[in-house]
Amino acid sequence: MRVGVLALQGAFREHQKALAACGVETEQIKKPEQLAKISALVIPGGESTTMGKLLIEFNLLEPIKELGEQGMPVFGTCAGMILLAKGIAGSTQPRLGLMDITVERNAFGRQVDSFEAELDIPVLGEEPFRAVFIRAPYILSVEKSVEALTSFGGKIIFARQGRFLAAAFHPELTGDLRVHRYFLENCI
Ligand code: GLN
Repeated sequence: MRVGVLALQGAFREHQKALAACGVETEQIKKPEQLAKISALVIPGGESTTMGKLLIEFNLLEPIKELGEQGMPVFGTCAGMILLAKGIAGSTQPRLGLMDITVERNAFGRQVDSFEAELDIPVLGEEPFRAVFIRAPYILSVEKSVEALTSFGGKIIFARQGRFLAAAFHPELTGDLRVHRYFLENCI
C-alpha cells in the first residue's frame, strides 16, 4: 500500500515521516496522474485558502473529490480538515467538501496563535495524546453519520466519517504515531 501526501504547500514532509515510521510507503502528490499510484491520501496543515487555490491550479481538486466520493480514504489535518469540510463558516473558498461537517477557521482566537494540549482520545487508548494546535479550526457542527472522536474546550476537534478522518491539530509534529495508525487501521 502506498499513501499519498498532498504536497502543494504546508507540513507534508512531517506527514511522510510519520507514515514512514508506521512502515508505509508514501508519494508526494503534486500532479493528477500521481493519484493513480495511491490507495489513500493525507492532506496536511498549511493555509486552506492557498491550498484550495493551488488544488484548482494544479487540476487536483476535482480528481481528489471524485476519488474520495468513490471511496478513497482521506485524512486531513488542520487546513486539511478545512478542505475536507462541506461547510466553512463565513467562507466560499474552494474545498473538497467530502465530510458532512461545518468548520470555523482560526477558531481558538487570534491572540493564541498556537498551543499544546493533552487530549483524551478514547479510540487511541488510555494514554493522553499531546496535540499541537496552530491557528487551528474547530468543528462547529456535524451530521449524524459523523463520529466525534474528541473535543477540546467543548468543541469537536477530531472526527471520522467512514473512510474520512479530520483533526484540527497536528499529529505529525509530536512523534506520537497513534493518530496515523488509527487512520491506517480503521479508515483504509
Ligand atoms: N488557519 C489555517 C487555515 O485556515 C490552518 C492552520 C493550519 O493548518 N495550521 O487554513
